[in-house]
Amino acid sequence: MSKIICSAAIRGAHKIVDMAEEGYERALKKYGPEHEVAFPNTAYFLPIIYSMLGAPVRQLGDMREIFQECRRLLPAPVRDNLWLPYLAPALDAGMATFFAEEMYEAIRYIEESNFYTKTEDPTEGGLWLGAADDVIFRKRGVEFVDGTAPGFAAILGTPSDPETASKIALELQEKNLYIFMHDQTEGLNMPEQLKKNVVQIGWGTRLVPFGPTYTSVVFAIGFACRVALAFGGIKPGDFKGNLVYNKDRTFAFVMAFGPVSDEWYANAAGAINWGFPTISDWDIPQVLPTGICTYEHVVSQVPHEEIVQKSIEVRGLKVTVSKIDIPVAYGPAFEGERVRKDDLYLECGGGRTLGVELLVSKAMEDVQDGLVTVEGPEMTDVEAGAKLPLAILAEVAGRQMQSDFEPILERQFHHLINYAQGIMHIGQRNIMWLRVGKAAIEKGFKFEHLGRILHGKLHQEFGAIVDKVQVKIFTQEDKVKEVLELAKQVYVGRDERLGSMTDDTEDVFYSCTLCQSFAPSHVCVITPERVGMCGAYNWLDGKASFEINPTGPNQPIVKGECIDPTLGQWAGVNAFVRQASRGKVEQVSAYSLMVDPMTACGCFECIATMLPMCNGIMLVNRDYMGMTPSGMKFTTLAGMVGGGAVTPGFLGVSKHYICSRKFMKAEGGLKRVVWMPKMLKDELRERLAVRAEEENLPGFLDLIADEEVGTTEDKVLAFLQEKGHPALTMEIAV
Ligand code: SF4
Repeated sequence: MSKIICSAAIRGAHKIVDMAEEGYERALKKYGPEHEVAFPNTAYFLPIIYSMLGAPVRQLGDMREIFQECRRLLPAPVRDNLWLPYLAPALDAGMATFFAEEMYEAIRYIEESNFYTKTEDPTEGGLWLGAADDVIFRKRGVEFVDGTAPGFAAILGTPSDPETASKIALELQEKNLYIFMHDQTEGLNMPEQLKKNVVQIGWGTRLVPFGPTYTSVVFAIGFACRVALAFGGIKPGDFKGNLVYNKDRTFAFVMAFGPVSDEWYANAAGAINWGFPTISDWDIPQVLPTGICTYEHVVSQVPHEEIVQKSIEVRGLKVTVSKIDIPVAYGPAFEGERVRKDDLYLECGGGRTLGVELLVSKAMEDVQDGLVTVEGPEMTDVEAGAKLPLAILAEVAGRQMQSDFEPILERQFHHLINYAQGIMHIGQRNIMWLRVGKAAIEKGFKFEHLGRILHGKLHQEFGAIVDKVQVKIFTQEDKVKEVLELAKQVYVGRDERLGSMTDDTEDVFYSCTLCQSFAPSHVCVITPERVGMCGAYNWLDGKASFEINPTGPNQPIVKGECIDPTLGQWAGVNAFVRQASRGKVEQVSAYSLMVDPMTACGCFECIATMLPMCNGIMLVNRDYMGMTPSGMKFTTLAGMVGGGAVTPGFLGVSKHYICSRKFMKAEGGLKRVVWMPKMLKDELRERLAVRAEEENLPGFLDLIADEEVGTTEDKVLAFLQEKGHPALTMEIAV
């Protein structure tokens, strides 16, 4: 801990204990040791002393022993020429400070009985409210436990203009925090600044003016101690339990404005005992290493416009969004709801227009929590039946966030958006498809609300890793294309992370049952060489998802004994799928289209099916809207394959899996492929060329037919014969 800060804190503590003790000796002479002493109407005595030492201070005489304890705690002032570890002595000095200040304030209640007003509302009495009595404490303290109020900001001093003071107060209120105000800066105090700006103060608005001197900080810390005693089951005297409870449960911090005196340093050191850091606008040394507090202990020179956000970040306060503020109903009941043609007002993506969704992580300072922007036409700007391009770019930041978690969070968009009544979301990545019903538009639903949903729900469901979320939505083609390009680079990076891992090197695979809301018996088995059929989850994503949420949809599967290496069947995988599909699926092959193929949900990037005349496999991607040689378009094929059914000869696959060495190994692999749309061939060209080289099939891509060759089996067969495609001489696939 900074020598400068510790020296000042220890100096300050000495001054405070001296001042309090002098006052005590005077009071003792005047009133005698049996004179009653207490904060008003409370059963918690002087709550910091009671919590830490288990000592109920009832009379002036009881304070003698506490002052002795203060003296025991007080370290010697720091000498200029001696370098020592200072953290522990500074924390002890901070604790002595609070004991002394509590006794100082209690004596003030004897000597100046009208110093603090006796109401909850400062407009009805004096400005300063003093210690909360038990009626107020019970009513307000429970909010610290039920989540209505995550904690408090203990403010020392004030910014110099009322506008800034009001803005900071409002920002803190918006985070549902209590604002406890103390002391003044150069003759100005925060409650007066707020009143000048016609801001209502008092317990009712959570803007609580505790006291005009720094000694009143004990009312804030004492409040936290009482919460631990009353609602946390912590016993008086269990100082460790009380400190840890508050560090973990009460998100509080000190916010200091203006020059920091020795006495303020002493109070800040005291607060660190509870894990409450100090954030200041002033030029003081910082204490950045973590230790007692969750993150940094003292952060300084923070501009006023950033001080709330910085405080939240430093304290590790998680933003709680209790309600998703959108004009339609929201919940899991609407997840499987469809928006059919007759109800359709607007659609985006799904091959009709460009559509892409992407989540990336950024540095803390690059994300403004809660920011939602829409560039391009809003839903309200277009006529019924409109089609718009759409890019949804969510940028998140968090102390615990890792880039490995990005795909997992991104894949949640599907169900999070689907929870909104009258909104249908299908697919993911750059094959997402959004449909908005007429009723939702009538209720006022807009693109902006997609951002609100993602902001709120990512906080709610991934609060442990996400601290900030901003969402940028684009509905102009050029901007959508920009996001699309970025997304493609990100997807390649994600897929490459698997590196040299193979199904043979790993003993554990991962399940994904995220799509069971649409297809109740569907289970994706994700292996290093077989990405989930939506293309959004690879093996590492499954692993990361399990780390984030051990009871979530991605569970480890110990593959167990290998039953058939060519089909890709393992005893452990079969047992898992049987249980996860509730007995609907007995066994699955990871590498076969014909024998026990996997179930398919509806999110697959591509469909693979047999062309019997050609003795080969055709592939079609979701974006391809034309006819295929199977006699069916993608949408018709999807209807046959999806819904969690096992359909030998038809299978949902990801683009990544098409380029895998294990792709349809049981049917002969890549050389069995006879047809795919040109756009898919072009997209996978480089990766397929590498695979063809590995298979000793030079120039193989030119042997694969596409829609320019034909969309009937006859035409495709004639092409294969002309080119001498190897599938024609392979064993017949059954
Ligand atoms: S398609 Fe498979 S991997 Fe993708 S989200 Fe659905 S269940 Fe998970």
